Amino acid sequence: RELARSKAGECVRVVVRVRPLNSTEKQEGYEAAAIVDEQRASISLTNPSAAASEPPKVFTFDQVYGPTAQQKQIYDRTAAAIVESVCEGYNGTIFAYGQTGAGKTHTMEGCRDPPELKGIIPNSFKHIFDKIAAEGSDHKQFLVRASYLEIYMEECRDLLAHNPKNKLELKESVDSGVYVKDQRVEIVKSVAEIDRLMQEGNGKRKVGATRMNQTSSRSHSIFSIVVETSELDESSGEAKIRVGKLNLVDLAGSERQSKTGATGERLEEATKINLSLSALGNVISALVGSKSQHIPYRDSKLTRLLQDSLGGNTKTVMIANCGPADYNYDETLSTLRYADRAKKI
Ligand code: ADP
Ligand code: MG
Repeated sequence: RELARSKAGECVRVVVRVRPLNSTEKQEGYEAAAIVDEQRASISLTNPSAAASEPPKVFTFDQVYGPTAQQKQIYDRTAAAIVESVCEGYNGTIFAYGQTGAGKTHTMEGCRDPPELKGIIPNSFKHIFDKIAAEGSDHKQFLVRASYLEIYMEECRDLLAHNPKNKLELKESVDSGVYVKDQRVEIVKSVAEIDRLMQEGNGKRKVGATRMNQTSSRSHSIFSIVVETSELDESSGEAKIRVGKLNLVDLAGSERQSKTGATGERLEEATKINLSLSALGNVISALVGSKSQHIPYRDSKLTRLLQDSLGGNTKTVMIANCGPADYNYDETLSTLRYADRAKKI
């Protein structure tokens, strides 16, 4: 049991990515408060309202990426190994965490054009289908299924449903673990097909305007890919089946409600978001913790849904995205503290 836990700890990695100052921030004269040292995997954060004598706060993680890091580099170093192991029958989860505008969607999805700006999700599509093209044969066959949902106000919505219902139920069975009842799951045979599904789902995401970002996302989105491999064993003549699941999670913005001026429904959203993000933090720190302790999967829809893909034999990476500017100091510090707690000790 103890062994299983330390193994799980080794399978959680925490990575920080700091985006560049954007043109508005530069024009308005903001300075970078977050400075990255990629070699040392550290980040130092200067409090703009503190005395000049106050030293910056320094954090170290498994990897830290600065403003010049390229999408492909992030994919190769943080995601590719997880996608490989999913193709070998293990589960894996990649999270993007951070305040609205910090670069979560850029990291996960990126831009379609130019192709170098594609994020982790489209890069994983290509990786999976390239692997199938290279390894598939009469003896080894692959089946890929995709689904896409979001958790908004602690309710699951199927982003691929033709008529999205707001409250899909989470069920649990001995065979398939935790699953979403009546969710649309599509078999996909090419990058083009799975890409089309992603775009279809993106069109149905819940977005709400906050003062910080007009299209800020108030929900967690989870794009899941199941890769099933059926390999014929020459000697026994039987097929050996392996199933791996990859969850690509773009979390809701982690900003605190005071800064976004939220009231009413927006405030309720923010409260639910805070709850589920702290539940996720608790699960991850319990997984990486040294003491044998209860893993509180049941505290939120997100952790319950991902129960089979967090801990055990699964690989998890948390990418904590930060804005560099000094006006983001408080939020960036809170993101780094959250990420720090998820680190192996
Ligand atoms: P979030 O999803 O966390 O709210 P976004 O990914 O939408 O944030 O990023 C906010 C803006 O910053 C977008 O216009 C995005 O293209 C840009 N951006 C984010 N990260 C980077 C980066 N590493 N390099 C260049 N632009 C980025
Ligand atoms: Mg986003």
